[in-house]
Formats: sequence, C-alpha cells, structure tokens
Amino acid sequence: MPLDPKRTVGELKELRELTGNEDGAQRVAWTETWERARSWLRDKLATTGAEVAVDPAGNQWFTLRGSSERAVLIGGHIDSVPNGGWLDGALNVVAGVEVLRRIAAEETPRVTVRLVNWADEEGARFGRSLFGSSAAAGSMRDQDELRSLTDRDGISLPDALALHDVDLDRALKAQSELESAAAYLELHIEQGPVLESMDLPLGVVLGTFGVERHRVTWRGQAAHAGSTPMTERRDALAGAAKLALEIREIAKRTGDGAVCTSGGVVCKPGIVTSVVETAEQLLDQRHLDASKLASMLEQAKEASKRFAGEEQIEVEFERIWSIEPILFDETLVGFCEEAVLEVAETSHRLPSGPLHDAADVSRAGVPTVMLFVQSLRGLSHTKLEDTKEEHLELSVAALDRLASKTIDWIAGGGRR
Ligand SMILES: [Zn+2]
Repeated sequence: MPLDPKRTVGELKELRELTGNEDGAQRVAWTETWERARSWLRDKLATTGAEVAVDPAGNQWFTLRGSSERAVLIGGHIDSVPNGGWLDGALNVVAGVEVLRRIAAEETPRVTVRLVNWADEEGARFGRSLFGSSAAAGSMRDQDELRSLTDRDGISLPDALALHDVDLDRALKAQSELESAAAYLELHIEQGPVLESMDLPLGVVLGTFGVERHRVTWRGQAAHAGSTPMTERRDALAGAAKLALEIREIAKRTGDGAVCTSGGVVCKPGIVTSVVETAEQLLDQRHLDASKLASMLEQAKEASKRFAGEEQIEVEFERIWSIEPILFDETLVGFCEEAVLEVAETSHRLPSGPLHDAADVSRAGVPTVMLFVQSLRGLSHTKLEDTKEEHLELSVAALDRLASKTIDWIAGGGRR
C-alpha cells in the first residue's frame, strides 16, 4: 500500500467529527472522549497487523516487528486541551498510522517500527503535562505531588487513572518500553508564526528551549501621590517597568531565537493615590543555548541592580522553575533536513519554544528529532488552530522519508 497523505487529512477530519464539537477538540486525557479516540486509533491500525499494547503509564503502543528488535519510534499524543485544535498532537499519531500502513505492506522491516500515542501530554485536567512520556523516560519523579492532584470536580489523579486501568504507583514501569528504542521521531504543528512568516511549509527542530523563570520583587516606599515630589519617590513599579523594557534589548542582543517575557506585575498597595511600595514581576527567559540562557539571566540581574540604584529601591530574584535546553540528535537532524528538502525543496532549522514529549524521550538518551509543519497565524490550543491541507500532506510525506532514512541508519548500526 503506497503512502497516501490525503488519507491522513481525511482521517484527521474524521477524528475531529468523532471527538470534537462546535467549540473544538474535546479529547482531554482520562475522559470517555479520549478513550473513544484511542479505540478509533486501534481500529485504524487493525489492518496493519501491528501488535497493540498499553503500558503501565497508559501509553498506547502499536508495534510492527522487524528483523531486529531495535526500534524506531514515531510518537504523538491524541489528547487535546478542552476546546482545542484538530492537529496538536493528533497530526503525528494519524500521520504515523499512514507510515505504518506503508511499511506493513512491504516486506518485514529491517528494524522494529513502533507508533506510540503518549498518555496525557497536555495535562489539561490535572495540570501536569507530559505524563506518559515522562513515565517512560524515567523523568517522572514527583509521584507524591501527582498523588495529591485533583481536577475541578475534586476527583484525584490516581482515581481518574484507575478508571482507565492505570495505577500511578506502577507508571514508571513504562520505562521498559524505551529499552529497545534506537530513535524517536515526532511531527508536530509549529504552534508559532516562524514558518508562516518565512513562507515555508516545513522546518527541522533543533531542540527545545531551556527556560529560566523568576519572580523579581521590587521594594520601595508607599507614599502619598499628591504630597510626594517626583524627586523624593522610591517607586517599586519604576524598577519593574525599566526591566520590562530592558529584557527586549537583552533578547535582541542575544539573538538566535532568544525570547524574554515579563508576564505580569502585581503592585501593592495598588491604589491610585499611592506610589507603589512593592512590585512582584514574573520573568520568563528562553534560549536553545545553555550559556546564552545563563548570560541573559545574568544581564537581567545586572540591569535590575542598576535600576534599583537609580530608583533607590531594592530588588530580589527568586527562581520559580528552570529546565536546561534539550538538543536533538545531529544525525537525525540531518536526515530530517534531507527529508524536508526532498518533499518541499526548502528547509529551515528552528528551536521549539514549547516542550514536547520528544524532550523527555531525548533526555532519556534516545536519539530524537522533531519535524514542524507550518501553523496558520501561529495559533494553537484553540479551535482556530489550522494548517493548509497541502502542507499537512507534505508533512506526512516528509515524516515517511525521515522514517525510511532512520530505519536504514538503525539497520546499519545507528548510534551505539
Ligand atoms: Zn502537542
């Protein structure tokens, strides 16, 4: 059966009909609609003869046994956020079905090929993303915290999982699934505006951004807005305002995709008749290069000290969360670029701002790469999320080429 990318587009629409409504996709993990999507997927693969299994973290695996046990994995997630888009996560799963069909119709593949539908990538119900992939990768180390999570109706995460035959205490046993993994491939919509702005259908993802998140607290002195002359003020908001503008310059100077965001400032006392006494500012900085990320943080801290001096206020940085950049495998990045050039003639290398299941798999030591397809208007996590059908078809063709190149590479030894 030759590859038929148009069929993928048709099946994505079928899935949208089956699991969406006028507000968008409703495939929230650990719900009935999600299970409906999972059994739909099982049915789609029935003709390929792929073995079906669900691991202890709830990830769904479809395996075409090859001459070698070493496996090329194609991964995605069929779960969505509430009122989500039709492509986020689902595109790769459904494109993977088409690749498996093509391979199943040929002679026994030289290596094993597996499609994985990760459980609860979005974390929409319990606020914990990458559930299934972090269990398989062994990076899930917050079992106690997970046990205490509840959804809006007060149902606990372990209880919700149990309804889908997943025991949180055994979830990490999913790690055995990656033992034979020799490569991991993930296609995803870009969820950003870069490829569209360059008028390119496809891009090769170099890795996922490292992130530094801080709470920056500025402390001045509350004083009467009428009686305090401008020269006598210790205005905490002035520091936050200067930093909010300075981080644009820091990102610009750093370049290579650097982004810095001041996502919010809470002022106290927060009344119209007082100078601001404390301003709590949220700062998010991201870069693909660890040393550049560290330098961006250093520059933000130095500038803050300078602003504090100028305004006669105090400043303090407190780290909320951080993650190191995750770089994808160079050889696979090369194959991905070849595949993109073969189907679309021009390619572009770009980092991923959002985290993906691929980041966890890569951190577990499996050579990994991601392929992005253009998102229209950069929108995602909304029913407005969309991609041109011709671009979706190109992405299926490119994923198939990438899978073929990767199978050849693993059969010839791969990364040992
Ligand atoms: Zn996704």
